[in-house]
Amino acid sequence: MSLSVAIVGSGPAGFYTADAFLKAGADVRIDIVERLPAPFGLIRGGVAPDHQSTKGVSRSFEKMALDPALRYYGNVEVGRDVTLDELSGLYDAVVLATGAPQDRPLGIPGEDKAGVYGAAAFVGWYNAHPDFRWLDPDLDTAAVAVIGVGNVAIDIARVLVKTPAEMAESDLPGYAREAIDAGGITDVYMFGRRGPVDAKFTNVELREMGRLEDCHPVVDGAVLPAEVTGEMSGRDRRVREKNLASLRGFTELDPAGKAKRVHFAFHANPVEILGGEKVEGLRLERTRVEGGRAVGTGETFEIACGVVIPAIGYQAPAMNGVPFDAARGVVVCDGVRVMGNVYAAGWIRRGPVGVIGTNKPDGDEVARGVLETTPAGARPGREAFERLLGERAVRWVSHDDWRKIDAAEVANAAPAAPRRKFPTVAEMLGVLGEDR
Ligand code: NAP
Repeated sequence: MSLSVAIVGSGPAGFYTADAFLKAGADVRIDIVERLPAPFGLIRGGVAPDHQSTKGVSRSFEKMALDPALRYYGNVEVGRDVTLDELSGLYDAVVLATGAPQDRPLGIPGEDKAGVYGAAAFVGWYNAHPDFRWLDPDLDTAAVAVIGVGNVAIDIARVLVKTPAEMAESDLPGYAREAIDAGGITDVYMFGRRGPVDAKFTNVELREMGRLEDCHPVVDGAVLPAEVTGEMSGRDRRVREKNLASLRGFTELDPAGKAKRVHFAFHANPVEILGGEKVEGLRLERTRVEGGRAVGTGETFEIACGVVIPAIGYQAPAMNGVPFDAARGVVVCDGVRVMGNVYAAGWIRRGPVGVIGTNKPDGDEVARGVLETTPAGARPGREAFERLLGERAVRWVSHDDWRKIDAAEVANAAPAAPRRKFPTVAEMLGVLGEDR
C-alpha cells in the first residue's frame, strides 16, 4: 500500500518536502493542494520581479511535477473547498506548507493611515499576486519610507527606483510600472532600528544598490564603524564585513547625474506615522545598540514622505483548530508534527527566516519524520479526495492546466520580459475555458 500524503501549499516548502518524499525511495503518493491556480508560492509572488535567476528554481519543481507519484491540485482552498479535518481523514499524512503570508504589525500610532502598505501586500501587488491586484497604492509622492533593513526592504526600494530599462527583463506587471512611473518618487529611505552591521540584508542584494542606472545610494560615513565586533558565527561576520565594505564604498560614489536616491539610515526607530487621513511623514527616535538591542535615546527627528512601507517580517494567520503561537506567528509543533497526522514545513513552522534553499533540509526533516511514524494505506487518499472535489464541483487546476496558463503568460510577454502574469484567478481560469 502506498503512503498517501497531502501537502498544503506549493511554495518552496511544499515542493522541497515533496522532493524529499520522492527521493526517499518509499512507496508514496503525494498530492499538492494549492489555493491559487498558479503554483510556487513565494517564488512567483514574493521573489522580486527583477530577480529572475532566483525564480529559476521553479524549473526543478516543474520537473518534479511530472513524476507520476505527484499530483498538483491548484485552485483548491483548505478551509473553503475542503476542511483540514477532511484532508487529515482522507490522507495518511497532511503537511502544512502555507508559509507566512501576512505582515507583522508595526504597532505605532498612524499605522492605519492611507499610504501605509505592508510589505506582503506591496510585494504581492508588484508581483501580480491575485490577493493584492487591487491594492492600487497611491505612489504620488517624492519620498517613500521603508521600515526595516532586510532583503524584503531592499527588494522594495530597488523596484521603486530602477528604471524601465533596468526592469525590461523582469515580469513587473504593466499596472505597477505605470503607477511607479506616474508617482514621481525621487527618494526612498530605508530605516534600520539598529546599526549598519546589524542589517539583515545579504551582500549581493546590497551591492546591487551601488550599481543602479539612475539612483545614488546615500549613507552617512560617520555611522559606519571601523570593524565588525562581537560574538557571531564566521559566516555572519563575513556577511557583515562585506556589507560594511559595500556601505563604505557607497560613500565614495559620485551622485552626479542620478535623479533618485536610496538613503540607508541606521539607529532610527519609527515611533509615529504623521499626517491627517493620509501619510505626510514619519517620526523616528534615534537609538543606540546595547546587548544587540536597539535602545531609544529620547532624541527624535521627522522626515516628510507620502508612503510608508513596513518591511519588518511576516507571519502566518491562525488556522481553525490548529495550535498556534500568536506571538511568533507560527503553528505550534512537536518537532515536525502539529497534531495527529498533521505536520508542518517551512515558514509556517520555522518563522519567516532564510532563503529558498533553507526549505530543502527542512523538507528532508519533515519527510523523514512522516515516514518514520506514519503507517501507509490507513486512509483512502487521492481517489477519495478527487471524488469529494467532484461532488462539490470544485474546478481544480491540474499540472497540465497550469502548463497552459504558463504558456499563455509567456506568449503574452513584452519582447524582453519572461512573462506577463495574469493578476486574477478569473483570468487564469479563463485560459482553460470550461473543459472540466
Ligand atoms: P528580516 O530579514 O527579518 O528583516 C526584517 C527587518 O525589519 C530587520 O531590519 C529588522 O530589524 C526590522 N524590524 C523588525 N521589526 C521591527 C520593528 N518593530 N521596527 C523597526 N524595524 C523592525 O525579514 P525580511 O526582510 O522580511 O526577509 C524574510 C526572509 O526572507 C529573510 O531571511 C530574507 O533573507 C529572505 N529574503 C531573501 C531574499 C533574497 O535572498 N534576495 C529576498 C527577500 C527575502 P532587527 O534586525 O533590529 O530586528
